[in-house]
Amino acid sequence: MTHSALSTDALRVIVTEIAEELAESDDRGRVASYIPQLACIDPQQFALSVVTPDGDVINAGDADTPFSIQSVSKVFTLAVALGQMGESLWSRVGREPSGDPFNSIVQLEHEQGIPRNPFINAGAIAVTDAVLSGYEPREAIGLIVEFIRYTAGDDTIMIDETVARSEEATGYRNTALANFMRDFGNLTCDPAMTLGVYYHQCAVAMTARQLALAGRFLAYDGCLAPGGSRVISGRMARQINALMLTCGHYDGSGEFAFRVGLPGKSGVGGAILAVAPGRASIGCWSPGLNAVGNSQLASRALEMLADRTGWSVFAPH
Ligand code: GLN
Repeated sequence: MTHSALSTDALRVIVTEIAEELAESDDRGRVASYIPQLACIDPQQFALSVVTPDGDVINAGDADTPFSIQSVSKVFTLAVALGQMGESLWSRVGREPSGDPFNSIVQLEHEQGIPRNPFINAGAIAVTDAVLSGYEPREAIGLIVEFIRYTAGDDTIMIDETVARSEEATGYRNTALANFMRDFGNLTCDPAMTLGVYYHQCAVAMTARQLALAGRFLAYDGCLAPGGSRVISGRMARQINALMLTCGHYDGSGEFAFRVGLPGKSGVGGAILAVAPGRASIGCWSPGLNAVGNSQLASRALEMLADRTGWSVFAPH
């Protein structure tokens, strides 16, 4: 079944019902505790925000509560890096699902320090390093935050410094990944500087509404709206969506594609940005994570949304 003419009102009913049904859920997973600042977030929170091609924003739940976007930032940094250096980025990072946890180190040695994809930590650190080359860390952080603010159309978006510092103080595994890649020649900057930028991009605080707005360029083939201002090329937007579909949920990527059928990117703060190409950009958040580090309730909400709207990319459009 396709719903190309799904009205805003019908969509509002669907979004509201999903939030109401999930409010009763006791199985919310567990909040990430390895970043001390994230361990104290209330797992009862939930938000779903959907932006339509007309620019309507449909919200349910805590859509104006900020959260740490964590690995969802990897999508924005990838777009910045591709905009800066184009295809040459792909000599430093692959485009294959890893089938391993987000912070895994095992494949790096076998594959000579070239991470499998830009969405596992090693790959994202390599992409951040590419953005940093030629800039001061503060400037590189500025480029990434400015990109996010521009795509969301919201200058109030900020970095939560306490989260960045909390992760910097405890990020031993990311330090290992960065040093390992530096040794293979796949980082060009000082690993500590690259990690500083990486932790700051992960610590960007956004609401579900802001996240949905920031994802519009992926829903509309590189533009902020159908026929609107161009952010990146259509080809690049499609490539990023393909990577989100195949690699956006780490070793849960196959399951997410199977259940939801939309490109999506998760973060350990509990956010998922999902894209229904041509139809909607979706920000969803609930802090409790499943066993592979993806938001339990946000994954479920997106599955319900895709089912009820017919938005799966595998459905005939
Ligand atoms: N900042 C987190 C880390 O590097 C991001 C991981 C995630 O969101 N999956 O561990």
